[in-house]
Amino acid sequence: MKRTGRAVIYDAPNKPFKIRNYPVRDVNSDEALVKITMATICRSDIHSYLGHRPNPCPGILGHEIIGIIEQLGDQIKTDLRGAKLSVGDRVTWTEFFNSGDSYYRDIHDMPQKSPGVRKYGHDLVEDDPHFLGGFAEYCYILPGTGILKLPREITDEEATPLNCGVATMISITEASKIGMGDTVVIQGLGLLGLYGCAIAKARGARMVIGLDTVHDRLSIAKEFGADTTFDIGAISNEDCISNVRNLCEPDGADVVIEVCGYADAVPTGLRMLRTGGRYTIGGLVNPNANFTIDGNYVLKRWLTIRGIHNYHPRHLIEALDFVMANRSRFPFGKIVDSKFSLDQMDEAFKKAADRTVLRAAIVP
Ligand SMILES: [Zn+2]
Repeated sequence: MKRTGRAVIYDAPNKPFKIRNYPVRDVNSDEALVKITMATICRSDIHSYLGHRPNPCPGILGHEIIGIIEQLGDQIKTDLRGAKLSVGDRVTWTEFFNSGDSYYRDIHDMPQKSPGVRKYGHDLVEDDPHFLGGFAEYCYILPGTGILKLPREITDEEATPLNCGVATMISITEASKIGMGDTVVIQGLGLLGLYGCAIAKARGARMVIGLDTVHDRLSIAKEFGADTTFDIGAISNEDCISNVRNLCEPDGADVVIEVCGYADAVPTGLRMLRTGGRYTIGGLVNPNANFTIDGNYVLKRWLTIRGIHNYHPRHLIEALDFVMANRSRFPFGKIVDSKFSLDQMDEAFKKAADRTVLRAAIVP
């Protein structure tokens, strides 16, 4: 008997979603088929939905996905850590995959920037194997993907954001070289920023300062390790800079991380740093994110500015280990604060887009 599965189809930006059925075929020997248990709406899904960046249409959005292995190709024996994989295992997997030779992967250890890298939630649904996104009943895991088995204890709410938000923030905080006793400023307290506060603390930061304009986020950030937060909508840029500098004695913060998505935040954030401070851009994911800075200030202050996009497969392992080690310290499950079915996708995206929910989960 031929099987089919339901998928929520993204036909074009700003158009209502449609549910369609597609055939579910047996896996090839280097693929896995997963029955999705939860997928969450990431900010980048919202950028696609609103037409801020191109995404193939019609397609299935969603790349923060977990599920149960329903079929496993016989070439796939173990997960990223070397643990044996079997049908029935609950897994997460890298949001990207690539195969073939790669200069960036093999020579520079940057598989996430390999030419030809593909991401889940970024393919045409009409092409085989149809199911390559999160907002559906099934997802195929294709060759070149790192699969990671989930421990029984971790909840779906804690596990679903691991393969995008949490792993990306592990990558960003690693690149920022946060060390014991550092002072860290996080610009933007969405999912990345909240995990950023918690990971900075776990990496040994002495003080974490969170900046945002949304009141709920400022208060929840305290539960995620922020020592102090500032509502940047209520104070001037100059006051914000001097408040931060006063807290980070003697001469400003060791690290500032941009995960707010606003280019204007960069010049402001640079002025919060001490001499020799480190600035990481992690949220300017859309083109034309222009800002103006004084190169002489960067030179004289010995500032490091770097961008980070995506993550290495080892960061997914670290993301899981970080959450498992800190799930009694920080309320990770609280971030996924609403659940919707496949049929409620329009409502879910509307609420996620206008930020009335923090992370909307789709439970097929
Ligand atoms: Zn994402």
